[in-house]
Amino acid sequence: MSEPILQVKDLTVSFHLKRGILTAVDSNSFSIEKGETFGLVGESGSGKSVTARAIMRLIRTPPGKTSGEVVFDGDKVFELSAKQMESIRGSKIAMVFQEPMSALNPVFTVGAQIGDVLRTNLAMTKNEAKERTVELLRLVGIPSPEKRLNSYVHEFSGGMRQRVMLAMALSCDPMFLIADEPTTALDVTIQATILELIKDMIDRFGMSLLFITHNLGVVAHSCDKIGVMYASHLVELGTKEEIFNNPQHPYTLGLLNSIPRMDANEKWLTPIDGYVCDMLDPPKGCKFNPRCPKAMDICREQQPALKELAPGHFSACHLHHS
Ligand code: SF4
Repeated sequence: MSEPILQVKDLTVSFHLKRGILTAVDSNSFSIEKGETFGLVGESGSGKSVTARAIMRLIRTPPGKTSGEVVFDGDKVFELSAKQMESIRGSKIAMVFQEPMSALNPVFTVGAQIGDVLRTNLAMTKNEAKERTVELLRLVGIPSPEKRLNSYVHEFSGGMRQRVMLAMALSCDPMFLIADEPTTALDVTIQATILELIKDMIDRFGMSLLFITHNLGVVAHSCDKIGVMYASHLVELGTKEEIFNNPQHPYTLGLLNSIPRMDANEKWLTPIDGYVCDMLDPPKGCKFNPRCPKAMDICREQQPALKELAPGHFSACHLHHS
């Protein structure tokens, strides 16, 4: 087994709001090995993106409060100075977001923005940065990159903007990429090509990947290991094969049944009943209990702990303890 590049231990993130305390991530632990691709899956509001922001130390304090430990490439992230953290962001860890328009600056050309990152982080001259930017745009499939250097973000289509953001993310040759719902805002046909591109770049650059999505179908093709989150908790963790072929948590089963199946005769999609709980007033015990078809009395009283059911396969459900 190779060394972990990222270790998340007992990570908790809460927000102290006027209406109360919202715990977005609750005591979660997982690790990602060098070269591994890890998918973090769950519905909106389950805490996936907050987990990514905590790893990057981007939680604003206050109202946010973070505890636990994140170790990246041997460094304890929460103990680094602001300057040390700044140098890790962008050069060792890069991020691509769901909406490139919010991450890219609309008033500068794409060439100026990527060039700026290269000159600041890698001390390149203006000409070197320009040449490298053309190479990067070509690498991610932007046609006529020499001309498109001078285009603004709004002049690109959604899929092309996502390619530009990937070029920016790759500019400093990071060892770790966080992709936060990178295909959600795109047409279905474009989603597949962007996923393929990310996969191709991961293999080519030998990076590790944390891929965040609400769509379990998406991680089936792109990830080695999967963590399933529900209402702030990691409820199941395992290899892609374990999660798809031997799912153990009722929520994971619900997610799998929600994937449309063209080969099914009668029911081709079974949604999970009910809605995600109000995170300011979550139910007692297992937070999935109001929606769970297998809920028992104990589920309404006690939060189940993660239990290792087979090497590397964990699930948090009272069914495994009875
Ligand atoms: Fe369902 Fe109970 Fe398991 Fe929660 S602990 S998933 S409510 S059976």
